[in-house]
Amino acid sequence: MIGSGPAGLAFARVLHRHGHPVTVLERDPARDARPPGGTLDLHEGLGQLALEKAGLLAEFHALARPEGQAMRILDTDGTVLRDWQPRPGDRANPEIDRGQLRDLLLGPLDVQWGRAVTEVVPQGPEGVLVRFADGRQETFDLVIGADGAWSRVRPALSSATPQYTGVTLVEAALDDVDTRHPDLARLVGDGSVAVYGVNRALVAQRNSGGHVKVYAQFRVPLDRHTDADPGPDDDEAVRSSLLTRFDGWAAPVLDLLRHGTGFAHRPLFALPASHTWAHVSGVTLLGDAAHLMPPLGAGANLAMLEGAELAESIAAAPGPGELDEAVRAFEERMWPRAGTWANITLAGLERLVSPDPSQALALFDEVQPA
Ligand SMILES: Cc1cc2nc3c(=O)[nH]c(=O)nc-3n(C[C@H](O)[C@H](O)[C@H](O)COP(=O)(O)OP(=O)(O)OC[C@H]3O[C@@H](n4cnc5c(N)ncnc54)[C@H](O)[C@@H]3O)c2cc1C
Repeated sequence: MIGSGPAGLAFARVLHRHGHPVTVLERDPARDARPPGGTLDLHEGLGQLALEKAGLLAEFHALARPEGQAMRILDTDGTVLRDWQPRPGDRANPEIDRGQLRDLLLGPLDVQWGRAVTEVVPQGPEGVLVRFADGRQETFDLVIGADGAWSRVRPALSSATPQYTGVTLVEAALDDVDTRHPDLARLVGDGSVAVYGVNRALVAQRNSGGHVKVYAQFRVPLDRHTDADPGPDDDEAVRSSLLTRFDGWAAPVLDLLRHGTGFAHRPLFALPASHTWAHVSGVTLLGDAAHLMPPLGAGANLAMLEGAELAESIAAAPGPGELDEAVRAFEERMWPRAGTWANITLAGLERLVSPDPSQALALFDEVQPA
């Protein structure tokens, strides 16, 4: 297993539950080498199903924030257009911090940190050769690429590369909002607040511990960074350029940018919704490596469910001779589901960051139960 994101860890944890040892090879030098990221909503039939397969659903619900499903939509002048609250006991899409989810999945797993893969070469009956950045190489029977958007495993199966969607996201964070920024804490509420303007949007989401992540999104040509995770930016410069870009929006909304820190550019890339590949014995892909799509609440959910399903298929294979058939059947099952979600999220991004902001509100009304 290459990669310890939601896909890789869900796969490894379910296989572990079935009594099979699995080694996860991860590029990051250590568990906390970089901030784990924001909050994720895990859907009942997707991410939560994966956790059930891993025997971790009860622990998830003990950590998750069902109140985090709340969603408020404002006009750019600050008028509240929608203020949706989940019903008591609603467990359809509770939120969990990415770091908490990672720790929950990690549990007893064996992750080899600092093992960056550079190349994967299928060699027929001899297995699959994996080359590492430190010059080492090893051969495996089965290599599963769960190494995300810029997968080093994918080229062994497919020539597809992620394409820029036309939308860039700039992320920022606020800490201790309830004590340091009580007005912003009220604005964000227990869940998310979103403001949609012409070709731009601002979304803020509460994480646990009074932490808020802010996502400014806008249509812009790709002028920098081809890597999806380019690291931190110069806060002052980015803040000032965002305040110009969102000029004229209500002051409390812009305060999310004024008080935000740790700005990071994330141009949004996607693979074609129809991405598949001719099956190659001994190698497959999961999650973003297989079907990178805009971040509209599906990617981690699919990644986890795929990881769990592939692990179950492998555990159920009667012997090594049937392993390849199990992987092939898994791919046939993954592709249409991922394609459906890729089309939904690509169309969703067009409407959420759109020349006509009423499209975003209409989308919300279509997907959110009254
Ligand atoms: C701002 C934002 C918000 C999002 N919100 C949501 C949400 O609410 N719900 C949702 O379902 N999805 C969401 N997503 C999408 C979600 O984050 C991804 O779809 C999900 O993380 C994919 O999981 P993965 O395991 O396939 O890949 P990743 O999470 O990218 O994990 C890949 C792992 O592989 C490692 N790796 C990479 N290259 C190598 C290498 N060469 N060798 C070894 N290891 C390597 C990486 O270090 C990483 O640990 C969001 C995305 C963004 C950007």
